[in-house]
Amino acid sequence: MLGAIVSLLLVVAAAYAVTQVGGVITLAFSAAVLFLAYRRLSLLAFTVTFTVLLALYTTFGAPADIWKGLLWVLLAALWLLNVRPLRKALITRPFMAAYLKLLPSMSQTEKEALEAGTVWWDGELFTGAPDWAKLLAAKPPRLSPAEEAFLEGPVEELCRMLDEWHITHELGDLPPEVWEFLKSRGFFAMIIPKKYGGLEFSAYAHSCVLAKISSRSPTASSTVAVPNSLGPAELLNHYGTEEQKNHYLPRLARGEEVPCFALTGPRAGSDAASIPDTGVVCRGTWRGAEVVGIRLNFSKRYITLAPIATVIGLAFRLFDPDKLLGGKTDIGITCALIPRSTPGISIGRRHFPLNVPFQNGPIQGRDVFVPLDCIIGGPAMAGSGWRMLVEQLSVGRCISLPSNTTGAAKAGVWATGAYARIRSQFNTPVGRFEGVETVIARMVGLTYTMDAARSVTAGAIDGGEKPSVPSAMLKYHVTEMGRQVCNDAMDVHGGKGIMLGPRNYLGRSYQITPVAITVEGANLLTRNLIIFGQGAIRCHPFVLREMNAARNPDRAAGVDAFDRALFGHIGFTLSNAVRSFIMALTHARFTRAPVAGETARYYQHIVRFSASFAFAVDVAMLTLGGYLKKKEGLSARLGDVLSSMYLASMVLKHHENQGRRAEDLPVVEWACRNLLYHAQEQLHGFLRNFPNRALGALMRGLIFPRGLIYSAPGDRLAHRVAGLVTAPTETRDWLCHGIYWTLEPRNPLGLLQEAMLLAGQLEPLLKRIRVEGVKTGKVTALDLPGQIQQAHAAGIVSETEAAALREYDRKTMDLINVDDFASEELGIRAQPLEASLAGQSRPHVA
Ligand SMILES: Cc1cc2nc3c(=O)[nH]c(=O)nc-3n(C[C@H](O)[C@H](O)[C@H](O)COP(=O)(O)OP(=O)(O)OC[C@H]3O[C@@H](n4cnc5c(N)ncnc54)[C@H](O)[C@@H]3O)c2cc1C
Repeated sequence: MLGAIVSLLLVVAAAYAVTQVGGVITLAFSAAVLFLAYRRLSLLAFTVTFTVLLALYTTFGAPADIWKGLLWVLLAALWLLNVRPLRKALITRPFMAAYLKLLPSMSQTEKEALEAGTVWWDGELFTGAPDWAKLLAAKPPRLSPAEEAFLEGPVEELCRMLDEWHITHELGDLPPEVWEFLKSRGFFAMIIPKKYGGLEFSAYAHSCVLAKISSRSPTASSTVAVPNSLGPAELLNHYGTEEQKNHYLPRLARGEEVPCFALTGPRAGSDAASIPDTGVVCRGTWRGAEVVGIRLNFSKRYITLAPIATVIGLAFRLFDPDKLLGGKTDIGITCALIPRSTPGISIGRRHFPLNVPFQNGPIQGRDVFVPLDCIIGGPAMAGSGWRMLVEQLSVGRCISLPSNTTGAAKAGVWATGAYARIRSQFNTPVGRFEGVETVIARMVGLTYTMDAARSVTAGAIDGGEKPSVPSAMLKYHVTEMGRQVCNDAMDVHGGKGIMLGPRNYLGRSYQITPVAITVEGANLLTRNLIIFGQGAIRCHPFVLREMNAARNPDRAAGVDAFDRALFGHIGFTLSNAVRSFIMALTHARFTRAPVAGETARYYQHIVRFSASFAFAVDVAMLTLGGYLKKKEGLSARLGDVLSSMYLASMVLKHHENQGRRAEDLPVVEWACRNLLYHAQEQLHGFLRNFPNRALGALMRGLIFPRGLIYSAPGDRLAHRVAGLVTAPTETRDWLCHGIYWTLEPRNPLGLLQEAMLLAGQLEPLLKRIRVEGVKTGKVTALDLPGQIQQAHAAGIVSETEAAALREYDRKTMDLINVDDFASEELGIRAQPLEASLAGQSRPHVA
């Protein structure tokens, strides 16, 4: 409504201006100036062009004297700004001095976190004018023949061996033969280089392996993810001494050593840099000899693989009170590898993570003495632990959890699409009800987004990027989307999803969902503090440059760099304000898109949101400064806008990578609409909650002059999208590609697909029974077996057709049925039935 009023007012104002003397020239002058700002000319080019335009305007446009005077003053100021020595003396130096006072001090750990990794597409989204060529030129991720063979061979075989009910309910662990298989086939060695006996897989292959295992068993996929993620192998690979690599990597690759990595403790979870675990440099005895080493005291918890680990990657804070290493006394966070058998270590007890019994437990160490060469990278790397961790997290967080969650989501879509086809209520497959279609469409759209994000980002890693900000975006958004998909799958399955037992293929994935939400940076922290907090400084084209320039000890060089960054920044902000306003008014219709066709509009909208986002970020940073970090609600919303643009870009690139398949367009549309709608809502929420109301209103005027006109995916689209997975379509196969869907007696994903295919083939027969039998009264039975029998007797279906229908009914009911147990089978201590019944009749005491 507001948008319509503003648009109307603008049209009326323009029409009025045109009717006035010189109105056309005024309009043309204003449009030309806005165009210059939109196109981001340099200050000099802008000043020269503005001079010419102003000369023409004041000659032919005859503006009022006061207006004319103001414009010439503005021009004079612009020319003065082009004289760098003058502007440095008058503006840059005083501004830089004030800026330095406001600049929050930064701890070494914060600095290291900020500098970790590389800036990739995330940086482009901060510019307000992303360079699409950069994204579209990136090579699509591909598997090598060896990687494909691994997926088709050992991974397929592993999936066949896994029985999640047996693992979770009966064994409380993976069976010994599965452990042996995992170790001997190199599942723990995907990131270890070949020269040390590892598989040296690409990030994309690593991701595909995890996704496939996850579609079968969350216990196994969690187990495989950890040694291939942040931990001893990864740290040794990048920072280990040659001696450490030669000793440990081949043993880890062969599975002779089982690693774990212990950072978290009872007192330091999210704030991991505050670990109270200590190592003190001192003399001690190691294997009979006196050496300089470290005495460790630590208490860790939640450590995956700890109960069975043979080598512990340990993070602690190192002190050197006697300066035996020659330098500081507080050396900082350090990572070391400690053999399990070292005296003083208590290890082996287990936590029980939500009924999914991958190995996880606490570790304590009391006066554990180890030599200095246990430090990863040797004594030279003492104190570099935090940098090592954050650098490696920028890759690891893009892979483990996003891949596991995407694999589970694909399995959820595959199963739910088929189940919604074979499960009928009110004489209709449940997947055909509009309310269920909406939910299935959401599952499909989110899963496509998750798959796009994990595969395109893995491709970027294989191309040499270490995308630290996208790693946080993927960690948060992919796991949150996975949680939504999992909830939706449970809803569509009804009671079938709830009753645990060998026939339940959803329950354990549902139970393990909070694990993905919590590990590797809990989601609330990641959304509120990390995505935007890190992105704003790391990806912004000017902020880090300004900070570094202001802190430069070489003052002259600092002022020079600060001056360039500052004036670049001012032009950038003004240009983004103009771009945001114009693209919002035109609904980005005239914005350049790198492709033609149905997806072009989404590229245009991303550019529009990028400009609005960049403008809002600058206003927020300029007016709120360090306070923005405390206003988590605001930074979380800005992080959401950035993430939505990033994910929508991944969806578009994924669509290109897959050959622009026309059949997938409804899904691409759903995914982009959903993300861009979210971007709009979060940006609006940011503006509504901006502490300075007047500034918030001004920004709203420039960013949403027509109001909130971008709409979420509608019902018609949901109907088309749901139809793509409740029937055997190519989109269904492509979307869920890479899961364990082999048709075999113990694989529900294979059996559901088989039943769905049969449902489609036999639909005409079922219709014939309804029309010729039930409606005419020849078939009166209430259940399908009875109806088949009567229809056969009445000659409505042949013997062969009746047999096919009976087989279909058997297979379908086998999938729809759930398990039941005697109490003892559930481990419930037997109690006489009378006692339970007596309990029921006890009077209720409030
Ligand atoms: C199954 C499992 C396996 C794990 N494996 C390992 C492992 O192998 N090695 C290892 O070292 N650790 C491991 N962890 C630990 C994991 O990394 C931590 O659980 C995680 O860092 C969160 O710490 P916490 O659980 O103590 O939560 P807390 O730090 O107590 O946080 C509680 C809540 O507050 C939120 N929060 C905290 N600070 C902020 C903030 N500033 N802004 C907004 N929200 C905030 C968090 O997001 C969280 O939601 C594992 C954990 C689990 C559950």
